[in-house]
Amino acid sequence: MEKVEYKTPEELKELVAQDKKTLNNLFEKLKKTSSKQLDMLFHTLHEEAFIDFDCLSCANCCSYISPIITEKDIDRLARKLKVKPARFIAGYLKTDKDNDLVFKHPPCPFLLPDNYCMVYESRPKACRGYPHTNRRRMHQILQITLKNCEICPVVYTIVQELKKQIN
Ligand code: SF4
Ligand code: SF4
Repeated sequence: MEKVEYKTPEELKELVAQDKKTLNNLFEKLKKTSSKQLDMLFHTLHEEAFIDFDCLSCANCCSYISPIITEKDIDRLARKLKVKPARFIAGYLKTDKDNDLVFKHPPCPFLLPDNYCMVYESRPKACRGYPHTNRRRMHQILQITLKNCEICPVVYTIVQELKKQIN
């Protein structure tokens, strides 16, 4: 597969918009692929894509979108910051349109200037899994994966490779 190259969300959005019809067709085909085969396709490409791409040279996810924050995340982060959970919620979180708790305003308040995460060991579960292309049952998150092409250069590259393999 092609080497992953960094792109800004603006560049990725533009590329996805230009390719909208082909991508929609591809994702229709992916929906019809067996769950086992779909997971295998994504997992193989995920491993290949991350072999020599360093997330520290990107941080688009931490800069432009927020993970969903669970109660367990709140407890863990509040402990790490030595504040009460209620204080953590008031200081850092808001409820989004889907009724999920998220960080108030991207970039993430814990993203450091060198793209390291200030709370790495205690970071939310969703941060650990992002961009979720190596999880099981990829069928369940195909729409999110398509949306993530506009944020994550790795997901965009994986999908470009899938286009070659599937079409
Ligand atoms: S908590 Fe850390 S990994 Fe998660 S969005 Fe913030 S900086 Fe990124
Ligand atoms: S997961 Fe994707 S968006 Fe996040 S830092 Fe890595 S390459 Fe960039």
